[in-house]
Amino acid sequence: MSELPYSYEAPVSQALFDRAAAVTPGGVNSPVRAFRAVGGTPRFMVSGTGPYLTDADGREYVDLVCSWGPMILGHSRPEVVAAVQDAVSRGTSFGTPGEGEVALAEEMVGRIEPLEQVRLVSSGTEATMSAIRLARGFTRRTKVIKFAGCYHGHVDSLLAAAGSGVATFALPDTPGVTGAQAGDTIVLPYNDLEAVHEAFHRHPGEIACVITEASPGNMGVVPPQPGFNQGLKDACSKNGALFISDEVMTGFRTSRAGWFGIDGVRPDLMTFGKVMGGGFPAAAFGGRADVMAHLAPAGPVYQAGTLSGNPVATAAGLAQLRLLDDAAYGKVDAVSEAVRSLVTEALTKEGVAHRMQNASNMFSVFFTDREVRDYEDAKKQESFRYTAFFHSMLAQGVYLPPSSFESWFVSTAHDEQAVQRIADALPAAARAAAEATAA
Ligand code: PLP
Repeated sequence: MSELPYSYEAPVSQALFDRAAAVTPGGVNSPVRAFRAVGGTPRFMVSGTGPYLTDADGREYVDLVCSWGPMILGHSRPEVVAAVQDAVSRGTSFGTPGEGEVALAEEMVGRIEPLEQVRLVSSGTEATMSAIRLARGFTRRTKVIKFAGCYHGHVDSLLAAAGSGVATFALPDTPGVTGAQAGDTIVLPYNDLEAVHEAFHRHPGEIACVITEASPGNMGVVPPQPGFNQGLKDACSKNGALFISDEVMTGFRTSRAGWFGIDGVRPDLMTFGKVMGGGFPAAAFGGRADVMAHLAPAGPVYQAGTLSGNPVATAAGLAQLRLLDDAAYGKVDAVSEAVRSLVTEALTKEGVAHRMQNASNMFSVFFTDREVRDYEDAKKQESFRYTAFFHSMLAQGVYLPPSSFESWFVSTAHDEQAVQRIADALPAAARAAAEATAA
């Protein structure tokens, strides 16, 4: 490690992590942040500017996590910061309706044609939980189909075979979820339409909805095969179930209109979070007006939130969305392509078997020589190579997701200089991946 430009020790982060562990389970407020999959000291960040994060030890990193998606304009984008400051100066929460939430809803509805109405919430988990409740209330059915490796937040009924942290820790199930809560969830292999048809056949009149990540990013990036989402939509329509497309990760990131803007498949309900909150806790679910009309107070399905439509969060989200025009997406796509080809080139040069997979500008690398089409494929990768790759990049000042089951994210702020720093770090990281051995 001595030839690396950064000392690998992170004493201030380690001291903070020790303090955190005394008062917070595992020292973190969301499991993947703890670095358990890759080992080592999680970096405690103190500031972010453009494509860079600075940690408590004073080291700067090119950020390829972007807060797990939200920071599509980079950190501290002046227009977003100004909108937040303006909102804060007028008060932080009123518990009443306000114009900001109307404007944010209008911006979202204006971008995504099947999105006729939205209800704002505070997290993606709330969005998917509420969408499932609404689908059950609307159809008066109980069962839900989800796909292995798809993560929809930590909703009890949706944690079965989930991706993201559940994949990182290889948890088959989560204690605390009762049989009754999980019993109505049917988990199927991703990209397998035959399995979906069979499930509808086995449970006639019982399935309320199919929920899927619009294009999964929580088992690494595993895009839908051509026709898969349309096949889900058709199976739902034929069987009286609702099709829920979870766009918490892809929404307003993969295009102006999210994944819908790419594959054009019309969901009955959609869920959003991340980008639409501009780095604040704002999320949403929405879709067909006749379905949304079943929500309280218009209809009988209850759903509520003290901080829903919070004026600061909606101001941040609206400011961010208004800056996300075609030129911005062009920039994010170009950065993504540049980083993807640099990674591929470095790994190929070292003879490391890998698959670079992308869905628009979301991407991840799997250490395997086969295409990854579902969760079983994703689990077959040589994750120990990712661990070596990750630590080499980290030591050289590039912050990657601390797990091989996560998407990488870039932003409009990743300029040539930031991309060059990634390029400079890659040869040593690729070598580390090549030399890595299974524990
Ligand atoms: N759905 C998807 C596709 C996600 O990627 C996530 C989070 O990563 C969620 C739902 C949950 O969102 P949150 O973490 O805001 O609760």
